[in-house]
Amino acid sequence: MAEMSFAEMDMMAKYYGDRNLLDNEFFWLDCLVNYRDRAVILPVADCPATRRMLHSLLKCTSGECGACCHYGRVDLSNDDIKRLSPRKPNISIDEKGCYLDCSQGCQFLKDGACSVYDDRPDICYEFPFQAPIDSVLPDGSRVKRAVYRLKCKPALDVIRAAFRYAMTSNSLLLPDLNIVQIKEVSIEKINA
Ligand code: SF4
Ligand code: SF4
Repeated sequence: MAEMSFAEMDMMAKYYGDRNLLDNEFFWLDCLVNYRDRAVILPVADCPATRRMLHSLLKCTSGECGACCHYGRVDLSNDDIKRLSPRKPNISIDEKGCYLDCSQGCQFLKDGACSVYDDRPDICYEFPFQAPIDSVLPDGSRVKRAVYRLKCKPALDVIRAAFRYAMTSNSLLLPDLNIVQIKEVSIEKINA
């Protein structure tokens, strides 16, 4: 296991050995506090169907939060720039490419809502999904696993649903949000 952060050590001390973390409300509330903004590797394969399924579970009420519009940078693709150009965006550039500097809040965030919602950058459209990560299954096969950012309570609920889907009766969820022995990782239907 990789070196643990203080937050993870605290979670381990508190919850290690609990065989039913999935249903432990205190555990999930502690996850939100201790792991907020962390990219969580989900125990499901990354594919368009998985993304659609998980995205449909995200109960994010438009115009009532915008907490994910304060990241330091929102990277822009050429297509993003083309779509946004009529809005005259203030685009920053560095060696990694073009981006919106959102460290003080995105220039398009108005009253807690995105004012360019239909033309927003792909990265915003996908959020809280992050770039998938390569993983090796117990049988040696490789799979890309979905990665989800634990930004908010709605994101936490999606993460929890994914873990509930993936865990078999003899799986064990660890307090660092890993599970021992995962179910096969293609996803058909998740009931939150
Ligand atoms: S995804 Fe989460 S952080 Fe972003 S606006 Fe929705 S509730 Fe807020
Ligand atoms: S473009 Fe819209 S969704 Fe993306 S960071 Fe800015 S306000 Fe938020």
